[in-house]
Amino acid sequence: MRYRVLRPPYCYRWAILLSALVVAIAAMVSAFSSADGAPAQAPAPAAKAVATTPDGLVRETAREGKFVALTFDDGPDPVYTPQILDALSRAGAVATFCMVGTNVARHPDLVRAVLSRGMRLCDHTLSHDEDLSKRSEQRVTAEIAGCWSDLQVAAGADVPVPYFRAPGGIWSDPVRQIAARQGMKALSWSVDARDWALPGTAKIVETVRQSVRPGAVILLHDGGGKRTQTVEALNQLLPWLVAQGYQFDWPG
Ligand SMILES: [Zn+2]
Repeated sequence: MRYRVLRPPYCYRWAILLSALVVAIAAMVSAFSSADGAPAQAPAPAAKAVATTPDGLVRETAREGKFVALTFDDGPDPVYTPQILDALSRAGAVATFCMVGTNVARHPDLVRAVLSRGMRLCDHTLSHDEDLSKRSEQRVTAEIAGCWSDLQVAAGADVPVPYFRAPGGIWSDPVRQIAARQGMKALSWSVDARDWALPGTAKIVETVRQSVRPGAVILLHDGGGKRTQTVEALNQLLPWLVAQGYQFDWPG
């Protein structure tokens, strides 16, 4: 009789205890699998954002992290290239110089100076024809190979030219493919400092400061016109980038 009275509550207690145990085990499993708020099935660390986009253009730094890649186009220039090299050396920065063949032929010493400071070369065609993408394959080949050959003459056979950049950043599949056949990566950018428009030093500084982010490839110019604004902007931007914790890398 006693049992009859007591059994149902005992049954309930066991049921409650069993339920509590199940809940506790479930909670422990959940706690272990979601430590630090990570999802139970934590994915592998995010792979680096691909440096080469599906269109085959490089717009990111080679390394992941707080890096930027500086690139200077349209030189070498006897006035501005040495000033830019000095500014880069003071900041311990590296950069890639996209040179125009006609300037290379005029100033081969500057190609050697760029290399001696630990910088990299980029082929920016023989004559900076912004309609290159409309030209025949033969003409495109001559423009790309012509600059490449001038760089070899200036700095010695087999000097590395890891990049090619199309004039004006205007690409076509043949342009990209011919550069690739020469062993060069198609170098684009992700931040245009717009120094080519001569907007004033302050504006160039502001544009870069507002647009820069880890992995950015920044477009600037050491040739193709008066580049005083670029040099002055660089002298402000380099210490600022360093103060922000940026390091300097190559395009990927
Ligand atoms: Zn250019």
